[in-house]
Amino acid sequence: MSITELLYKKRFGKELSSEEIRAFVRGVTKGEFADYQISAMLMAIAINGMTARETVDLTMEMAASGDMLDLSPISGVKVDKHSTGGVGDTTSLVLVPLLAACGVKVAKMSGRGLGFTGGTLDKLESIPGLSISMDTERFMKVVDGSGLAIIGQTAQLAPCDKVLYALRDVTSTVDVMPLIVSSILSKKLASGADVIVLDVKTGSGAMMTTVDKAMELARTMVDIGNRTGRRFAALVTDMNQPLGRYVGNALEVEEAIDILSGRTQGELKEVSLQLGAQILRLSGKAKDAREGYALLTKALDEGLGLKKLAEMVSNQGGDPRAVYDTSLLPKADRTEELPAPRSGYITKIHTNMIGYAAKALGAGREKKEDPIDPAAGLIMRVRLGDKVEEGQSLATLMEGGLSRTEEAKKLLLAAIEIGSEPVEKPELIYGVIE
Ligand code: URA
Ligand code: CA
Repeated sequence: MSITELLYKKRFGKELSSEEIRAFVRGVTKGEFADYQISAMLMAIAINGMTARETVDLTMEMAASGDMLDLSPISGVKVDKHSTGGVGDTTSLVLVPLLAACGVKVAKMSGRGLGFTGGTLDKLESIPGLSISMDTERFMKVVDGSGLAIIGQTAQLAPCDKVLYALRDVTSTVDVMPLIVSSILSKKLASGADVIVLDVKTGSGAMMTTVDKAMELARTMVDIGNRTGRRFAALVTDMNQPLGRYVGNALEVEEAIDILSGRTQGELKEVSLQLGAQILRLSGKAKDAREGYALLTKALDEGLGLKKLAEMVSNQGGDPRAVYDTSLLPKADRTEELPAPRSGYITKIHTNMIGYAAKALGAGREKKEDPIDPAAGLIMRVRLGDKVEEGQSLATLMEGGLSRTEEAKKLLLAAIEIGSEPVEKPELIYGVIE
């Protein structure tokens, strides 16, 4: 079967067979097709769509295009979560220790910051001594014994997605439902968990800017995911402002620790618990999400999440004392307040620009090889709907040697809109797809 035959079929919107999809994915992965042929297929899929059956096949084949992690040496239910990406979105650092404290196993492979969004690996590396590399054998052993580990991708996960993603980026085929679904799910399936909960973000700091599109993506991913034999659920959550107050690497670790210590409440804690509640339900540890939520809350209140985080830090070579004393985390050289230019109400927050401001302060990279400053970032002092007085602090800038402070201030002033009429606070959770 030749690539031109496959292209001809998809050009007229015909359903590709499982064998045809397999041939396409294998050819892409082995480098047998020209970029223009792959791009033509992506555009034909964008225009003509794919059936659920085709999307399942594409997802499974992409997952199998590289290493499939076999977590069977780890006893118990293996769980994972995935966020479509946001700002101040530190749910993994709150949730993973709480899940381990509740008796499920989390063998998590995370990524670095991308665009305006932060990455769990960069955050973790701000903990003194902590390493995100571990060979697979030790990774399994640690997770089996202690219940959790978060490392960088060692295995070659879904290499077909790397090729497709790069071409989607330059052919206007990123926001195509079957392509997004297969891209995200193939990597999750290859990572080996039995239970996977997706946090689909919507709003000014998300790939899906409208609730309708986010709900459609969440429903489709759960539907396709469940057809692959794993157990999926999804939440659609708000990203019209940073989820937590802290944006940066050590800063977000500190906020996660503050939550696990019971010192900090708020939206980041709530979304983490709601995601975890679904995971415990799907794992059979709780009869429903309500009971799951209660179990996680109990673990948090008893300090068991904090204890698990310290255990993880220690297993990964880091200094566990930092978990109990956040003054041991890297600190900014200087801090500076950003005063409100006028009185009024916070009417809109361009969340992506908040992420870019943190990056300008040194919390993220321009290029892959750029250094980051673990201490840099910002603390948001206002939320949507708040009333502010002129001169009141909108944000605290945490600066260091890499900071482009003037650029960050400009971004922040443009990102935080102040109007004269009060607005309602956005909802936090728009939908749960069980
Ligand atoms: N994240 C992914 O990994 N893939 C997509 O297609 C979109 C977001
Ligand atoms: Ca603190």
